[in-house]
Amino acid sequence: MTRSCFFVSEISQDSGEFDLPQPLSRQLDSVLRVRAGETIELLDGRGEAWECLITAIRRGSVRVRVIGKLDGPARESNLSVTLGVGIARPDTMDLIVRQATELGVGRLAVFRAARSQYGPAEKKKERWGKIASEAVCQCGRRLPPEIILFEDLAHFLAGCEADPAGGSLRIFAREREPGAGPKNLAERWKNAAISRVTAALGPEGGWESPECSALIDAGFEPVSLGPRILRMETAVVALISSIQLLWGDMGEGLSGG
Ligand code: SAH
Repeated sequence: MTRSCFFVSEISQDSGEFDLPQPLSRQLDSVLRVRAGETIELLDGRGEAWECLITAIRRGSVRVRVIGKLDGPARESNLSVTLGVGIARPDTMDLIVRQATELGVGRLAVFRAARSQYGPAEKKKERWGKIASEAVCQCGRRLPPEIILFEDLAHFLAGCEADPAGGSLRIFAREREPGAGPKNLAERWKNAAISRVTAALGPEGGWESPECSALIDAGFEPVSLGPRILRMETAVVALISSIQLLWGDMGEGLSGG
């Protein structure tokens, strides 16, 4: 079996023995061909992981018994990262969702940018949620990122909470204009204890200049990711890695398992 971690929302210490819901049961039985006696890890969507023993498989229904809560290293980032993305073509979005999840993004906000060729839709959100859940299992996180859809950039900006407490940074990746890189920003903000970063990424066609002005008016600082034009799926990795390196959990080694 290659994947042994799944989301099941209604699980707790009191769950005892129960049948897994469909379609998970069917997937475990007919696709992954699990056997009674094997253990799997179930995530409850609230940040807990539960070790469960498969006790029986009957007609596409998999029965499990909760063994107990799994301890393990916390893999959620100490930095709260919101990524705003101007929606791109479906395959690019899939990569962005997966990679942003692996890199510890806590909230993913998707909006239609001026040069986006698509609009966000509930059906897509469902798909991204599934991809994010798979990535969560694969990378050892226990909470999937929250995914929020906004009609356009203006709604995204209006949805960015004011942060009177400070410690929060807003940046947007701006292509084709020389400007501050992540290191320059870190230098500028070195006296602030940054606990929250909201970062925006433009669509395949890039930002239009009124969008850059709107972002700057909303307190977003432009950041350059170097002299080359990156595809979105590359830019997202460069952007979030820089953020985690400078203010999050990439800067120092792992403590504990
Ligand atoms: N088609 C555009 C490029 C868009 S790249 C052009 O040819 O100019 C998509 C998004 O990735 C951009 O809007 C920006 O947010 C980010 N990006 C790509 N390369 C970047 C770079 N070198 N610096 C900062 N952001 C970059």
